Amino acid sequence: MLGYAVDEHPADAGIWQRLAHPDDLEEIKRALLAALEQNTASAVIEMRLRHKDGEYIPLLTRYAIERDIDGKARHVAGVCVDLRERRHVEQQLQQAATVLATTREGILITDADGRITLVNQAFTDISGYSSSDAIGNTPALLQSGRHDATFYAAMWQTIARDGQWRGEIWNRRKSGEIYPELLTISAIKDRADNLCNYVGVFVDISMSKASEAELDFVVHHDPLTKFPNRLLFMSLLDHGIKIAHREDKQLALLMVDLDQFKDVNDSYGHAVGDELLQQAAERLRCRLRDMDTVARLGGDEFVLMLENINGPEGVANVANEIITLMDQPWLLSDDVQVHVGVSVGLSLFPEHGTNANELLQHADSALNKAKNEGRGCFRFFSENLTHAARERISLESRLHHAVENNELRVFYQPQVDIASGRIVGAEALVRWQDPLEGLMSPVRFIPIAEASGLITDIGAWVMMQTCLQGQSWIEAGLPPLTLAVNLSPKQFLHSNVENMITTALRLSGFPPTSLELELTESAFMEREEDVLDILNRMRTVGMRVAIDDFGTGYSSLSYLKRFPLDVLKIDKSFVDSLPHKQEDRAIASAIVAMGHALDFKILAEGGENAQQLAFLEQRGCDLYQGYLCSRPVPADNFAALVRDQQLANSVPA
Ligand code: C2E
Ligand code: MG
Ligand code: MG
Repeated sequence: MLGYAVDEHPADAGIWQRLAHPDDLEEIKRALLAALEQNTASAVIEMRLRHKDGEYIPLLTRYAIERDIDGKARHVAGVCVDLRERRHVEQQLQQAATVLATTREGILITDADGRITLVNQAFTDISGYSSSDAIGNTPALLQSGRHDATFYAAMWQTIARDGQWRGEIWNRRKSGEIYPELLTISAIKDRADNLCNYVGVFVDISMSKASEAELDFVVHHDPLTKFPNRLLFMSLLDHGIKIAHREDKQLALLMVDLDQFKDVNDSYGHAVGDELLQQAAERLRCRLRDMDTVARLGGDEFVLMLENINGPEGVANVANEIITLMDQPWLLSDDVQVHVGVSVGLSLFPEHGTNANELLQHADSALNKAKNEGRGCFRFFSENLTHAARERISLESRLHHAVENNELRVFYQPQVDIASGRIVGAEALVRWQDPLEGLMSPVRFIPIAEASGLITDIGAWVMMQTCLQGQSWIEAGLPPLTLAVNLSPKQFLHSNVENMITTALRLSGFPPTSLELELTESAFMEREEDVLDILNRMRTVGMRVAIDDFGTGYSSLSYLKRFPLDVLKIDKSFVDSLPHKQEDRAIASAIVAMGHALDFKILAEGGENAQQLAFLEQRGCDLYQGYLCSRPVPADNFAALVRDQQLANSVPA
């Protein structure tokens, strides 16, 4: 142990005094003397003795003390154990403990059953759980809920097979925050190959994930506008097309190009050009709905993907709005003010292409055509769509002025009591004396008015006009007439209909009991409770409510039961083939019977001939409205019809 031959040192009691480390000498003496003086049979003393090569070896010396009868020590025998190995292990343990405590990696050790037996400081720092929170629990404490059972099953399978698993996993901090970590789990076995522990070592990688996301952003976005670049846009478009295809929806691509951008760049420099692009991006961004996607393809070219659109008109409207928006002057640094418009090329899925490349190419070629046509305009990939959409937009812009320019007319179509043959009222039907196209049917412009919000003004005007007319007929001595006015569902949605109606009645003096409101079933669909309330209040003051085009919508019996109604108007499509077509006979008869059972009056729309009328009369239908009596006509003509009838009736037979 010490490197000496047996006879190199006399084995006397002084051996340790010669070999002991000088620093230990006093302590050894003291301990030994103490042992000898006390009445013990043994002593354990640690000391360092000098090895032959000069190194001091740590030793544990056990002395057995033999005493005489008086207890006096007679003989001492010592056995030394080399402590180097143990010191080494202790040192290693000490180092390991330091590492465990100071490493930035979270460490968690469980027993074979998966109960946590030890965690380090980094574990607490990352997870927020102290060691007392964690010990005794299982690592399930940390589960984020982002991984399903099969994920964990696969993980444990790998550990069982390979003794180790390594991967990224989402865990949950004590605060509830979910974070990604890179985790290594190792199974520890004892010498007999029994599993005794699992050790998990992990690092929080939310920071590197964030910079990964940053990198990803840079790769997929345009640095100037922060819009998606072509790469990302193409994959978004692909995705959009798949969804549109699956849900049987339309999708539109708008390619927007700044007119004369090159001139700005050339005359003011690239910095100003960049600024213009940024401002243009901002204007585009403001116009978009959440679900729209806009990207910069490069240069002065932007592209928009509009999902879930309804028809080319809506898309053309967006294109037009963008053109107007971009036509406003641009105010750039150094008081530079420029005027650049945009041209827009449009393509639709599925009409103009079934994949991303095709749609983009076609939007691009539409854009070129738009530019060739003199800029500041839009073009669809196909000619006829461009034409129809432009016409609609021009119609809409003219319609804007129709009310103030006094271009609207109300025509009146008689409603006739079938049993007596007398005109008892009229439906007010609007027309538009368009300076460009002449007298236009509401079938063409009402949908546009509804889509653009103009219906509020138009509806209010018709109501006012009709009430004034009705009042003047009363004052002129015409027999009492019920005047029916159509209300669009959009009026209930976007304006205060109740206020509009009462104002018209008040200003005109027309009695509410002579006014009938015509609604289609779709008016009940949205904001059902509000509509119900309004109608109830209207009926308390004597107005009547008619349901229009009955049979074409949902024709829900629950509406009929729940809503306050007076008149049911059988749609013209069921009247057309009366009395020849068996199904229409059945439907018309059923509506009459059901309506009467619910105490409604039944009015048949579109009666054009005597056979229809005979059938309706025979089924007990109360009223009809149709060309057989009269088309919708101007107010004076209608008044003449009523007067003629009055005259005819007053002539004695
Ligand atoms: P509606 O309320 O169902 O009006 C009845 C339509 O049927 C009228 O068309 C009328 O001219 C037509 N009609 C009546 N009898 C006959 C017939 O015997 N034969 C044929 N072929 N047609 C007949 P109009 O005036 O073109 O109105 C169309 C629709 O426009 C109306 O359908 C109504 O939904 C809407 N509308 C008209 N005026 C207004 C209004 O002031 N406000 C609102 N919101 N909608 C209106
Ligand atoms: Mg109507
Ligand atoms: Mg109708």
